[in-house]
Amino acid sequence: MEEERLVSGWKRPDDWELDTTLRPRTLSEYIGQDKVKQLMELFITAARQRGEALDHVLLYGPPGLGKTSLAHIISNELDVGIHTTSGPAVERQGDLVAILTNLQPNDVLFVDEIHRLSRSVEEVLYPAMEDRAVDIIIGKGPGARSVRLDLPPFTLVGATTRAGLLTSPLRDRFGVIHRLEFYEEKDLSIIIRRAADILDVQIDREGASEIARRSRGTPRVANRLLRRVRDFAQVRADNCITKNTAVEALALFDIDAQGLDPLDRKLLETIIHIYAGGPVGVDTLAASVGEEANTIEDMYEPYLMQLGLLQRTSRGRMVTGPGYDYLGLARPEV
Ligand code: ADP
Repeated sequence: MEEERLVSGWKRPDDWELDTTLRPRTLSEYIGQDKVKQLMELFITAARQRGEALDHVLLYGPPGLGKTSLAHIISNELDVGIHTTSGPAVERQGDLVAILTNLQPNDVLFVDEIHRLSRSVEEVLYPAMEDRAVDIIIGKGPGARSVRLDLPPFTLVGATTRAGLLTSPLRDRFGVIHRLEFYEEKDLSIIIRRAADILDVQIDREGASEIARRSRGTPRVANRLLRRVRDFAQVRADNCITKNTAVEALALFDIDAQGLDPLDRKLLETIIHIYAGGPVGVDTLAASVGEEANTIEDMYEPYLMQLGLLQRTSRGRMVTGPGYDYLGLARPEV
């Protein structure tokens, strides 16, 4: 089932290449997120003028919204190198020390899924971010001693889908914190037309809008849908994506007018039919639909909540009135 899913923002193996080909390289190519862009432009210009490293930046928001792209853009615009890694990839303190001591002055270190760094690795980051130094222990037993190594100035760019899981000592060490928002349809349309251009696919304005509307506010989803609709257009529609082609293709892929797929509907239906509309805990819900709780929390809920169909309360998840309307069911009496 997973490989058939077209809508979630999570990266799948065939997205790596697509993401790299379509990734915007400069702030001017980065569509939407106007506020973030405006502020980053300011901070980058200031850092460049002073010849200093940019302050550490934390980017958070659902998968596929452009956090990795922005990290690369920051290094491009600063004209410095970028080293990328991710929370789960850095297993030991020594791994991180090796990365940090190899940075060139003012480089960007991008850590994706930074909330998944282990506590002991995270502790290496504190003095690195604050004092540009790491403490390493040399030797063992009673003769062991701690040596402080100075680091070059650098910018840590951390990305996370779960800002809430970040420890406060780590969060507090970022000078710039941005939350990326879901994209508006007009911005996704521009992203789709640019991607179509790069992929050499013909698409008209209405075809692009149709795909944009069903992309869950997420550029990665937009690019993925574009590619699937292109397949459809190639085989069944003269290689050109019009509104009709997009509508037909997306109906075939089970993606509805708002971009919801069968799992979205199953989540809402399960809460209504099995848990009387909720509240129900996410682990229970995950077990009922046969999906990982993390997947539901990162990829499905944010968009369902954005549409106002689902509500997250302290007691669990609940379907809202509009959620019942969406499924064509009568709202419960209050
Ligand atoms: P994240 O790191 O948040 O999961 P990425 O930066 O990997 O997301 O973005 C996924 C893909 O979506 C990128 O490769 C790029 O093609 C596209 N994308 C994301 N944000 C933008 C944007 N603002 N403008 C144009 N394309 C974007």
